Amino acid sequence: MRNQGIGSWTARRARKTPGRTALVFEDRLTSYAALHDRATRLAHVLRARGVRRGDRVAYLGPNHPAYLETLFATGILGAVFVPLNSRLADPELVYQITDSGSSVLVHTGRGVETLKAVHTGAAPRASLAVGEPVHPADLPYDALVDDAPADPIDEKVGLGDPCLIMYTSGTTGRPKGAVLTHGNITWNSMNVLVDVDLAGDEVMLVSAPLFHTAALNMTCLPTLLKGGTVVLEQSFDAARTLELVARHRVTCLFGVPAMYDQIAAEPGFAAADLSSVRSLLCGGAPVPARTIRAYLDRGLAFVQGYGMTEASPGVLLLDRADSLAKAGSAGVPHFFTDVRLVDPLGGDVAPGERGEVLVHGPNVTSGYWGLPQATAESISDGWFHTGDVARADEDGYVTIVDRLKDVIISGGENIYPAEVEDALLEHPAVRDCAVIGVPDPRWGEVGRAVVVPEPGADPGEKELLAHLEGRLARYKIPKSVVFAGTLPRTPSGKLLKPAIRSAHGGPDGGPATS
Ligand code: ATP
Ligand code: MG
Repeated sequence: MRNQGIGSWTARRARKTPGRTALVFEDRLTSYAALHDRATRLAHVLRARGVRRGDRVAYLGPNHPAYLETLFATGILGAVFVPLNSRLADPELVYQITDSGSSVLVHTGRGVETLKAVHTGAAPRASLAVGEPVHPADLPYDALVDDAPADPIDEKVGLGDPCLIMYTSGTTGRPKGAVLTHGNITWNSMNVLVDVDLAGDEVMLVSAPLFHTAALNMTCLPTLLKGGTVVLEQSFDAARTLELVARHRVTCLFGVPAMYDQIAAEPGFAAADLSSVRSLLCGGAPVPARTIRAYLDRGLAFVQGYGMTEASPGVLLLDRADSLAKAGSAGVPHFFTDVRLVDPLGGDVAPGERGEVLVHGPNVTSGYWGLPQATAESISDGWFHTGDVARADEDGYVTIVDRLKDVIISGGENIYPAEVEDALLEHPAVRDCAVIGVPDPRWGEVGRAVVVPEPGADPGEKELLAHLEGRLARYKIPKSVVFAGTLPRTPSGKLLKPAIRSAHGGPDGGPATS
């Protein structure tokens, strides 16, 4: 085959294991042969709409087989797939569609305002509706795919060609489009297959949204590469998860810590049939020790990961065997990926010392779409600067401490807000909190806690600061506490520190002036 990219995976699977089930969605089974057939027909549809090598095709909607069909169809053409986060607001979606220059939008019947903007914009665009059309210009996805020719397409696509433009979560600023090549995605899958031991008979339950890099690249794609089965759910439901595990004999689950907490809190959890499960994959944040224990009681251990959009995304992995002994740590680097922790001058830090996480490997992006400056600032000599601070223990296990951009420098001491936030959250009256740095004439910067109290609770500033005394070194204790009704978060639940700083960074705890 001339196509060496992931667009060839369905053809290769259809050659090797045509009859195996690739996908289960709403109890409908799709074999590898059928998935390849659908992706090929869709590639013909897209080609008829003018999509060529390097052109961008965006996808908007919750989990659906059409998502994977579109991904593989663009791969077949050598075009670039742009997954959009369906939880974003219309202006954010329009920005990503325009910024990526996508000429086709495939969607599952939501986002009317976005579609209006798409069809009144300067560039000519086509939209394909999976299910009911929502805009007069929508073309019917299913009818077009059913009627399209199925003859093979074999474009020349190399591992260095772009495969995806995936936008970062926008936690530290405007989301940036990371360009991920077929090689990046392939090597990330290889890392997963080597380190997580996924097997050809894997039954992977995916209910986290596929527009998040981890759900797509850490779970779906490695499973499909290996020839396993993906049980795809439109959205997550804790009780239904237990049901699906038993019904489909699921061997591997993927989720964020909050999802696993909800499953463990289900009344049916203790008695649920989990005998088929081999691995629980978890990423995005460390799994709390109590959650680890709840699953160990059922004989199950977590495989935890740390990564980012720019690394396709796997960087560190904490194996099952280490999950309790090294709880809190994000683990060791993936097989083909290397990590350094460096000080501000670029020197490696000693075990126990904090440093910025740099990543190198075949899964790491070579840059952001249309942002040469941001690319130059974040990649030097092939090492991607993650902006995360971490420390490693004597055995090389890395613990993520906080984001560099959030570190508060007070009188020459570094304060890591995440540590202070963890301590504050132990107070029963604190529902949510964020610690930010505010200007101070004496110390340069001091910490300020923005606290959302539990409903009905009224913890005073004094009480909260007293709670921190003895738990934290003096210099880490915020100098002021302000109260808020809610804190802004990204769609994936991360605190939006820039917005919190501008809303509460002022001298009186109100909006910052500059
Ligand atoms: P932006 O780059 O736009 O500011 P973002 O960095 O949040 O947004 P993502 O690529 O989705 O966008 O998230 C990657 C980041 O998530 C990492 O850099 C890290 O800060 C955090 N993260 C991921 N996994 C873990 C983990 N296991 N423990 C702690 N933090 C994690
Ligand atoms: Mg980031």
